[in-house]
Amino acid sequence: MLNVVIFGAPGSGKGTQSELIEKKYGLVHLSTGDILRAEIARGTDIGKLADGLISKGQFIPDDLMIDILNGQIDQYPTAKGFIFDGFPRTVPQADALDSMLKRRNIRVSIMLNIDVDTNELVKRLINRGKTSGRSDDNLQTIHQRIQVYETKTLPVIQFYDRQHKHHRIQGTGTMEEVFERICKEIDSVIS
Ligand code: ATP
Ligand code: MG
Repeated sequence: MLNVVIFGAPGSGKGTQSELIEKKYGLVHLSTGDILRAEIARGTDIGKLADGLISKGQFIPDDLMIDILNGQIDQYPTAKGFIFDGFPRTVPQADALDSMLKRRNIRVSIMLNIDVDTNELVKRLINRGKTSGRSDDNLQTIHQRIQVYETKTLPVIQFYDRQHKHHRIQGTGTMEEVFERICKEIDSVIS
């Protein structure tokens, strides 16, 4: 099994690259952002909670996020592997992911950290906001998301560093260039 954690700041291109990885390697793509937006669209209780938090640039509580992800994994018993996009976003989530995979006798194969500088992130998100219709793609929320990323999410890098699974990917350049860098790293752990 190949299990990839795709990591990076808001707007780093996690979603775009995950779709390319999904196609090339035949993995199941689990995007927590997409899962939460689907809950919002369906008007579920989780959706109602997520709506307020996401538009303020805040995280969904760890316990709930972990439960959601656990349930998602169970829906794909025959998966060749997973791409975890947007999870883990905190150290407790990283710990929980290790445990939930261990229970299934699998593990994270590689963590890809898509690195993009803050100025570029803000530019991309403002631009995306013109068409995305996302409640969090506005200047105020963008700054809040980057701040939350720096305080709560950055420590996840050390978590995977200690396991020697962290690989930094230069996230600027064309979509194809970034994908090529990603494939090199993935291929180095599967061959
Ligand atoms: P990218 O642009 O790189 O795809 P993103 O940061 O813009 O990523 P999503 O991954 O779509 O956006 O997440 C949107 C929002 O959903 C987050 O800002 C947060 O409020 C919530 N969210 C997503 N994943 C988690 C998580 N693992 N824990 C807590 N909240 C989460
Ligand atoms: Mg996304």
